[in-house]
Amino acid sequence: MKNKIFHPYTTFSAIEKGFPNIVRGEKIYLFDDAGKKYVDIVSSWWACALGHGHPKVVEAIQCQAGILQHSITGSLTHPNVLKLADRLANLMPTPNRHSVFASDGCSAVEAALKISIQYWYNLGQTEKIWIIGMDQGYHGDSMGALGAGFIDDFHKPFENVVSHPAKLPFPIDGDFAPSQKVIEQHKDRLAAVIVEPLCLGSAGMKIYPADYLKKLAECCAENDVLLIIDEVAMGFGRTGKRFAFNHAGIDPDMVCVGKALTAGYMPLSACIVKDKIYNTFTDKGEKDCTFYHGNTYAGHPIGCAAALAALDIYEAEGTVERAAEMAEKMKQWMQPIAELDGVKELRFLGMIGVVELKPETKPLIAEIKQSLFEQGYLFRPLGTVFYLMPPLVISDDELRGAVYTLQQTIEEFC
Ligand code: PLP
Repeated sequence: MKNKIFHPYTTFSAIEKGFPNIVRGEKIYLFDDAGKKYVDIVSSWWACALGHGHPKVVEAIQCQAGILQHSITGSLTHPNVLKLADRLANLMPTPNRHSVFASDGCSAVEAALKISIQYWYNLGQTEKIWIIGMDQGYHGDSMGALGAGFIDDFHKPFENVVSHPAKLPFPIDGDFAPSQKVIEQHKDRLAAVIVEPLCLGSAGMKIYPADYLKKLAECCAENDVLLIIDEVAMGFGRTGKRFAFNHAGIDPDMVCVGKALTAGYMPLSACIVKDKIYNTFTDKGEKDCTFYHGNTYAGHPIGCAAALAALDIYEAEGTVERAAEMAEKMKQWMQPIAELDGVKELRFLGMIGVVELKPETKPLIAEIKQSLFEQGYLFRPLGTVFYLMPPLVISDDELRGAVYTLQQTIEEFC
């Protein structure tokens, strides 16, 4: 069969070379149509925290599919979405929250951006329409999201189309002062600041300290700027706490979640909004402030069933606590990689282990990736950065094996 897919993030050269046709998943493994087994070392774009084929999530999806497949959440509701919204609110530091549901992470981000602008509009402050993110941040590939983020390597063609009036500089050594300057300078125009908490994933797993996030939250509150924390990639245990923002002890105005919300089993995302914001979206005042925004699959019953099952499993199996323990082991096992010739530095945040190679290794990256692939590991380097972001259910032996394979392969090529 001819390949008619317009593949995401895939070069024509890669298409020409060809890649596996994945037909099955089990635990941390994916299997292609020739029966070859691969370790899903990036958790299928950081989503499959529970690996593949977890019987309880599969059962929840199958069961819900036989009861109610779809029912909209515009002027209607259903039990799963009610339960999930309540559950998400109760996972926040303060539970007075309402959730907007969508399917992809970027749709949850779009909702957050629009809510922040309309919030100020609802309050009559129509000049507050700017949203700023961090330099080289990533919040998805829809137009609003890529303006709030913007990765030069991916988004150049859209530079003059999207709105990105200013950026928070990446905090070198955690220094908050330069970001404070930007926020104070633009506070009268700023509706919100959005950041990836503690780790700029797509920019190459760039990690910054929790203290920066704490200061950012304080500064936003002092300057009447909403704070949106984008937990789409980090949420549900990846960093060793339920949410990455928990490391900073903050209570963000809005939190976006996706990916691991359903453990990657169904497309579902949410923007969890504080009630001080939600309550302004009323039609009972002088003007109609209803949020005229929605997606067809917002609060999809089967998606919500998958999310409820995933949240149950995270609790029952102590996934977050286990991730924190495994993270310590991964850090220890990866240390020898720091000594290799081609390695610039190692970075760690929970169950994210990062190996940044020296810039001169750039011509070797494709070969290293190919060799790892032939050894049964699906790494997806970001520039010269190789990283492990495996399903949180990975065993000691499997993780040790992945670390060792990466070490040996880098040693062979660099
Ligand atoms: N936000 C962050 C931090 C992400 O890492 C991503 C995707 O990688 C997104 C948003 C977008 O999510 P999606 O690809 O589901 O639209």
